[in-house]
Amino acid sequence: MKKLVIAIDGPAASGKSTTARLTAERLGYLFIDTGAMYRAVTLRVLEEKLDPGDERLIGRLAEEMQLTFEHSRDEFKVKVNGRDVTRAIRSPAVTKTVSRVSAIKSVREIMVRHQRKIARDGGVVIEGRDIGTVVLPEADLKIYLVADVKERARRRARELQGGGIEVPVDTLKDELEERDLRDASRVNSPLRKAPDAIELDTSRLTVEQQVDYVVQKAREILRSRT
Ligand code: C5P
Repeated sequence: MKKLVIAIDGPAASGKSTTARLTAERLGYLFIDTGAMYRAVTLRVLEEKLDPGDERLIGRLAEEMQLTFEHSRDEFKVKVNGRDVTRAIRSPAVTKTVSRVSAIKSVREIMVRHQRKIARDGGVVIEGRDIGTVVLPEADLKIYLVADVKERARRRARELQGGGIEVPVDTLKDELEERDLRDASRVNSPLRKAPDAIELDTSRLTVEQQVDYVVQKAREILRSRT
């Protein structure tokens, strides 16, 4: 049976990665985190001390860097020129700058090429901001996750706490709002819900409920095709 392409989009910290990863595990599909790709370019921008507004130089950097991915059901590893940057791309400095870098057209074109290539054979749960609208508009199932911003900030605070980092919820809330605004107002592939995506508000759902919902939708589609 042909395996599905499942696209999960939504604002920052709405639960996309967790939902996509666990859905992929349950269905035996691959998990693809496209935010990690933009983060990897941003890491290099910071390491090279480039101006995040310098589109020409950043475009060249993105073209020249060797970006490779190791992706399985439960993990998405990113390597830049052979170096594993999976952890480094989660730094606060990268998070703060990534929306400026991801707004650059040439960077997006290169990343979208990678994304389409790895999703080519189906059997993937791929999450980001523009997957259902631009990257894979033909996806079999499109989910648009939303959640109250305060709740998203609380979740992010708990996640950081787990790693021993204390950040006030209000600071995180401001950061999330700023990033969402940049992502939603950019010219190239802004964050928005595809007309045929199912919107799922996770503010009052447990992770298990979110995942159950997506898996059930996927199974309905699979059943309807047999
Ligand atoms: O999902 P995550 O928070 O890791 O994404 C980091 C950033 O990468 C987003 O804020 C956005 O600027 C960018 N991004 C994007 N398009 C995607 C995925 C992420 O522009 N498909």
